[in-house]
Parts: sequence; structure tokens; C-alpha cells
Amino acid sequence: MRKLAILAGVLLLGLGLLLVLGRPWMAQRAFDRALDQGLGIDKSLALGGGLHAYVCGSGSPMPDADRAGPCIAVLAGNQAFVFDAGSGSIRKLMRIGFPMEKVQAVFLTHLHSDHIDGLGELMLQAWIAGSRGTPLPIYGPAGTDQVIAGFKQAYTIDEGFRVRHHGEKIANPAGYGGAANIIALPDGTDSQVVYDKDGVRITVICVNHAPVAPAFGYRIDYKGRSLALSGDTVYSPSFITASKGADVMFHDAMNKDMVAAMGRKLAERGRSNTAQIMTDIQGYHASPEDAARAAMEAGVSTLVLYHMVPPVPARLVEPLFLGRAPGIFSGTLKLSEDGMIVSLPAGSKAVKFSSGL
Ligand SMILES: [Zn+2]
Ligand SMILES: [Zn+2]
Repeated sequence: MRKLAILAGVLLLGLGLLLVLGRPWMAQRAFDRALDQGLGIDKSLALGGGLHAYVCGSGSPMPDADRAGPCIAVLAGNQAFVFDAGSGSIRKLMRIGFPMEKVQAVFLTHLHSDHIDGLGELMLQAWIAGSRGTPLPIYGPAGTDQVIAGFKQAYTIDEGFRVRHHGEKIANPAGYGGAANIIALPDGTDSQVVYDKDGVRITVICVNHAPVAPAFGYRIDYKGRSLALSGDTVYSPSFITASKGADVMFHDAMNKDMVAAMGRKLAERGRSNTAQIMTDIQGYHASPEDAARAAMEAGVSTLVLYHMVPPVPARLVEPLFLGRAPGIFSGTLKLSEDGMIVSLPAGSKAVKFSSGL
């Protein structure tokens, strides 16, 4: 019995020593594996042909550790597009393995800060990843040129550092920054095709985010599959009309009861300014029920809510956030999460969900 106990002790000691001494070796192996399986590999190729939407930011201006600011990126064959660039979203996009070198253009829904504050990082990453020789085309409403010029000015010193450090072959000064494409729809027009190349058609749609105007949603069509994204809007008939026949609708959503409760609590605690903001913002976003009605009337099969206010911290709170929406829209209804990939394979009606994180 005593001999057995000694033997067990020796074995445990040996195992402990092995674990301590073997740690650097195991760490090296884990690192090498990560390099072999991840770095430099275009993970998007595994998704197959069709239209793919990457949720790079499912959040809103309200801070959330898990949700970056609004951003949806779209891959259609060899062409990639980014719709809005909220804070933190570009890092998420790269973490998911979105092919930045394929980015053809950026589309802004409107110029609220939460939709543009990652633009500097986006221009930088697209410049280097794509070895760009011309600035990145950025479509958006009036004022987009001013926003781009401001970011460019703020990043000029950084640009100089990178060109001198890496050389013009890698960081070509001619490809730095963005080129504004201002979208202005003629009076009485609610939607218009703004991009049509190699089978990808992108339509801009006027939505209602008053007093912010103009504000846009977009529809993307490729190989018979399509998705529409609302940007920030209330229930918008023009968005519904332009979304008809699409497979997937992305819609912003604000639970107004929850926001009102936040406002009351802030007022109780003497935070009258932020309490007032909780009242002001309720007038220019759709509720989950509004989004459900829009999806039902547009006849889409799938509704994905994004730009959720307040950010839903856990699955437990989801039913509270959704309210009566599931009873209004009978198709597939999802709350988006950062890293979610929605795939629409060509030649099929399927809508597949996966996680890129
Ligand atoms: Zn907004
Ligand atoms: Zn917003």
C-alpha cells in the first residue's frame, strides 16, 4: 500500500514537471498551428459562389463589449463591398477573414458618427490589402466628400510614415484615401441603381431618418439572390417597395419601451441631458414590430435585426427586445451578432447562417 502511494506520488510529480517544462513547447506548437491554419488564407473561398453578407458591426452608438458599430460587408463573387464603418467594425471584419483586397467600394447610409467612425481604418486597410493604385470609391449622401477629406487630413501624417517605411510598391501614395461619389436622387425618385458591374447591382433607397436627411438603405442583387439593408430608419414604405422579392432584409430596430425605461432611470438620477436624448432618439428608428411589418409586407423570407438599441446583452433578454415582432413576421427572424455570415448560394433559395468568429 505504501509503495503504491509513493509510486502515485512520483508519477504525479513527473506529470507536473512535464507540464511545467513542456509549456513553451506546447505554446510554440499552438502558435505554429494557428499560422498554418489561418494566416494569409482566404477563408471566404470556402463559402462557395453566391451572395454573402458579413455582420461586422451589429451595434449602435450605445457601448457594448461584443457589438461593434454598424457595418455590413457583402461578398459577391470576386467583388466585395462595405456598407457603413462603425467603430471597431473593421477589426471584426478582418478577424472574420473578409477579403479586404477585393473591396471595390464603400457605401454610407448616412453621416451619423456611429456609421462613419471606422472609415479611417477602412481606407487604410483597403489601401494596403488591395495594393490600391487609386483611392477607394466611397458612395454616400451630400457631405461625404467633406467627411473623407477630414479623415484624410487626420491620417496624412500616418500615410507619410507608412509610405517611407514600407515603400511605394506596398503603400502606393496614389491609392491612399477615398474618392467621394455623392448620391443625389432626382426629386420624386425613391430609389436608383448606383452600381452595376460584372453581375452585381446595387440600388440606393431613400429612407426616413428625419431630421437626418438624406438617409439611405441599399439593395444588392447578384446571381438571382438579393438582400436589402435599411440603414437607420423608421418604418419606411420606400424601403419596403425596393425590398420586394429580396431574400433577406436587414433592418435597424429600437425597443422603445426599453429606451423609455432607461430615460426614466436617468432622469431619476439627475441625468437630464441623457434622459432627454433617450426621448429624442425614439422618433427616428423602427421598433422590432415596425421591422417585422416591413419584412412581412416586402415578402422576404428572412429578417435580420441589426443596429439594435439598446444592445441586447444576452439571449435571455431577446424575447423582451423582440416584443410582438415574432407574431407579425412568420419567416425566419434573427437578431444579428458580430461575426454572423448570412449566405445565399447561387441557384438556390437557401439562406444559411454561420459564424466567422
Ligand atoms: Zn443614424
Ligand atoms: Zn445609427
